[in-house]
Amino acid sequence: LSERLGGVFDRLTKQGALSEDDVKTALREVRVALLEADVSLPVARQFIKAVEKKATGAAVTKSITPGQQVVKIVHDELIATLAGEGEPGQLRVDSPPAPILMVGLQGGGKTTTTAKLAKRLKERDGKKVLMASLDVNRPAAMEQLEILGKQIGVDTLPIVKGEDPVAIAKRAKTQAGLGGYDVYMLDTAGRLSIDEELMAQVEAVRDVANPRETILVVDGLTGQDAVNTAQNFDDRIGITGVVLTRMDGDGRGGAALSMRAVTGKPIKFVGLGEKMDALETFEPDRVAGRILGMGDIVALVEKAQQTLEAEQAERMMKRFQKGQFNMNDLRMQLDQMMKMGGMEGMMSMMPGMGKMAKQMEGAGIDDRILKQQIALINSMTKKERANPQLLQASRKKRIAAGAGMEVSDLNKLLKMQRQMADMMKKMGKMGKGGMLKQAMR
Ligand code: GDP
Ligand code: MG
Repeated sequence: LSERLGGVFDRLTKQGALSEDDVKTALREVRVALLEADVSLPVARQFIKAVEKKATGAAVTKSITPGQQVVKIVHDELIATLAGEGEPGQLRVDSPPAPILMVGLQGGGKTTTTAKLAKRLKERDGKKVLMASLDVNRPAAMEQLEILGKQIGVDTLPIVKGEDPVAIAKRAKTQAGLGGYDVYMLDTAGRLSIDEELMAQVEAVRDVANPRETILVVDGLTGQDAVNTAQNFDDRIGITGVVLTRMDGDGRGGAALSMRAVTGKPIKFVGLGEKMDALETFEPDRVAGRILGMGDIVALVEKAQQTLEAEQAERMMKRFQKGQFNMNDLRMQLDQMMKMGGMEGMMSMMPGMGKMAKQMEGAGIDDRILKQQIALINSMTKKERANPQLLQASRKKRIAAGAGMEVSDLNKLLKMQRQMADMMKKMGKMGKGGMLKQAMR
């Protein structure tokens, strides 16, 4: 695959902005990579289409080919899609006893994952956990959970032969309440494929338990089927999260993308083996790298971007020392702040900038209006950005209107720019190796 990609990238050497052709050519290879990683076909298609829109017209970093640039955009988009909102690695287990319902197909790793999660809840969160097997279909399934429970020191609901899953769920609930448990976990039976009986059974259990979390356990090696499974369980039962098992295998884990695309629910953990501690928090960047399998290209582009940013910072510093600070500089600062996670991120990363950050706060800068200010600067002409003193009433009106804001907003921005120019001049006077240089590092 690398060889094939190399060929494509050699052909794509144009610099500047990504053309539709650049993007299409590179995305053909990306599509193959996704399918090889077992991402389901419709999901791969949909993903490629979204990236195509985003990538076309995007800037190409100096010394990088368009094809490489597209791969980096794909990689970032993949991470964003896999991550979604919310914290991975978290289970909602407030208001004890909190029920957790484990669902999925047979052999997916439900029972193993139930015990792994119980162990984690016990050891990391200090929770008292009760596990109950509702698997009345497979012989020895209940004993399997009991054995795991003994192994990890977590209680299991005593086995009563002949009970149906709903009755077991009710007993688990009662027992969890009486026994002072923080969490009780219901390990349901699976089938080899989705069927009505299975769904009806899980539904009935869900209605009895009213779970805080309903975790779908999916074999990370399953490809096209994963989508169907997820869709069915989510539609019928309503899942709150996913655990992908067997991510210790050779598979590239494309099921992760399929899961996210189809359910929109967070992937919380990955299973990395049969042992009880082989469970890790889901890490979108790691899985993205694995799905795409183009880590070397991504690293190359990141390096080029870093080099470019360092050069830019160096140039900027020289200008500041001369007391030059126009709207272009301000925009770069604002962009940088957005990238670093807003005000808070910036303050933590730039020790010398505390004073400036305070001043900006005083001028009414917070993360919400960073974007608005960038929009204001964007609606200025090149000349205006370089020479903000040009801005008289009519120009101000035009710029504010162009950004959908008021002239008073623009005036605030101008005031900030003047303050910063002043400050830069002062800092510049402190000489080389002074505050500014340290801060820029
Ligand atoms: P269930 O039918 O969904 O309850 O699946 P089980 O929990 O019984 O797991 C089926 C098999 O998969 C068992 O042999 C487990 O040890 C194995 N298994 C579960 N999770 C993982 C995992 O993350 N990695 C590997 N390699 N094996 C796993
Ligand atoms: Mg089982």
